[in-house]
Amino acid sequence: MIEGPDARLAKLVLALRSQGVTDPQVLSAIERTPRDMFTQDIFKDRSWENQALPIECGQTISQPYIVGLMTQALTLGHRDRVLEIGTGSGYQTAVLSRLSRLVYTIERYRTLMKQAEGRFKKLGLTNIITRFGDGTTGWPEQAPFDRIIVTAAAQEEPEALLKQLKHDGVLVAPVGKGPVQKLNRYAADGRGGFNIETLCDVRFVPMLEGVAREL
Ligand code: SAH
Repeated sequence: MIEGPDARLAKLVLALRSQGVTDPQVLSAIERTPRDMFTQDIFKDRSWENQALPIECGQTISQPYIVGLMTQALTLGHRDRVLEIGTGSGYQTAVLSRLSRLVYTIERYRTLMKQAEGRFKKLGLTNIITRFGDGTTGWPEQAPFDRIIVTAAAQEEPEALLKQLKHDGVLVAPVGKGPVQKLNRYAADGRGGFNIETLCDVRFVPMLEGVAREL
């Protein structure tokens, strides 16, 4: 029997729950975000698998489990202003937009940014502000943020971004130089320092400086 999208989505949500994504708000946001709108045509039928998939420009749409885990680790409030570095397909952005007030998202490929903007429009997500540019230096004009999420691997601790967090802010980012990085959660302690927790090992594409010259 061929499973319809609803059955596949239900299966995916069950898988995420068994992997530790248990926050009902996060699971509901994932349920309400059609991942097949964010994948390439050749991978449409794999949209509901718990797998990262290639997107244009040699980048990837994250694994749903990692999207769930990072979103849950952000402990978002509905009034939060969130900064995201690495829009990619826009899938993670869309999930964030359902749980927060405003999402500011930066992408260094113009092609990806344009595609993502089209998807946000189609889905009626009006609380996302996009920017084509280099996210390594954050978005100083809009700082400080309640929450920051980095969806490309930072080589070192993302200091410039940590400075753009509020005194009680949280930043989640993959950090490391190799193909496998640590997914770190930085919680500001209100005294200029951070409590750092490593959630798991992850494989993200690297965060690169400057904008991409190719489309
Ligand atoms: N959350 C995205 C993941 C995209 S992959 C999704 O689920 O689709 C990471 C993205 O980060 C890529 O699109 C890459 O181009 C982008 N990126 C890498 N370095 C960047 C930088 N310095 N500024 C902005 N975006 C960056």
